[in-house]
Amino acid sequence: MSQRTVRQWIRPEIRAQTPYHVPDATGMVKLDAMENPYGLPRHLVEDWLARLRSVPLNRYPESSPQAVKEGLRSILGLPAEQQLVLGNGSDELIQTIALGVMGQGRVMLAPAPSFVMYRTISSYTDMRYVEVPLNSSDFALDTQAMRSAIERYQPAVLFLAYPNNPTGNLWRKKEIEELVLSAPGLVVIDEAYAPFATDSFIDRLGAYPNLLVMRTLSKMGLAGLRLGFLMGPSEWLSEFEKLRLPYNINSLTQVSVEFALAHQAVFDEQAARIRSARERLFNALSDMEGIRAYPSEANFILFRTPKGRADEMFAAIKQQGVLIKNLSGQAMLNDCLRVTVGKPSENECFLTALANSL
Ligand SMILES: *Cc1c(COP(=O)(O)O)cnc(C)c1O
Repeated sequence: MSQRTVRQWIRPEIRAQTPYHVPDATGMVKLDAMENPYGLPRHLVEDWLARLRSVPLNRYPESSPQAVKEGLRSILGLPAEQQLVLGNGSDELIQTIALGVMGQGRVMLAPAPSFVMYRTISSYTDMRYVEVPLNSSDFALDTQAMRSAIERYQPAVLFLAYPNNPTGNLWRKKEIEELVLSAPGLVVIDEAYAPFATDSFIDRLGAYPNLLVMRTLSKMGLAGLRLGFLMGPSEWLSEFEKLRLPYNINSLTQVSVEFALAHQAVFDEQAARIRSARERLFNALSDMEGIRAYPSEANFILFRTPKGRADEMFAAIKQQGVLIKNLSGQAMLNDCLRVTVGKPSENECFLTALANSL
């Protein structure tokens, strides 16, 4: 009976989904989720805990935390006329955007392969998801195909991950700007990997009325806090602000983010270490017989194994205690695995495990 009730009332597009799967990484070298391997430095932990001690947990958090917003603004150099909306991770902001533009026949457009949550959230919000394949050789944008898809589908929103996940590359800025100009709806540049990239669209905010930039503190080193932020013209953002649940950023996150922003140099230094480890890892992968590594401006590297061997090699690497991500089987990503850049010692473990698996 309950089965029948579920079928009657839960939307078919939700029932058709498989739950987001997070593999158990207990005891493993964890290089699967683009986390920063370095925690808060030990000399800062006591100061941080002292801040947390005074947080009144019986009270609701500040609804629109000014100190957090001001901290972000000053670090980013965000112009005063550009607004900021905070999310419980940028995943939540993708959902907020979709809630704002959804409706009968509304289209969400993105290149493929790209970040999986775009598609997932399009389905939550009953939007039509249209994807345009990247060039299969180097994962560059197929601008011709993007332009015709924009023309044909008139997307309410176009998501461009810059750099792209899972491929790691940055597309050409000029080509993206042309798409922004031709798009009838919103274009959201998802800069989750900004700390590791050489370029950004923050300096283009305000140049186009339909351009938004989204970032997160997750990949920078604070994935556990869940803080994402969306930037752009107030005409759009004041609408999204209405869709934000009143207390979506909890008190412990607020205080911890304020603390972290006051020590931004620590995270900048960690990002620099990760970038240089990435170059070493890329070179080591490229030197390996049978492996093709794709250049990355993020904190992970996508690489291709010899034909038909990705599943077996993924399992062998896991067997040796190193967890990475198996993308093989997804369109255009046959034989592809993705490794997050970790500490030098972790990257060595991975390289050894990979060499053994070959
Ligand atoms: C990881 C990731 C996100 C999600 O970040 P959260 O702030 O942790 O929700 C968004 N976009 C891209 C492209 C990502 O890779």
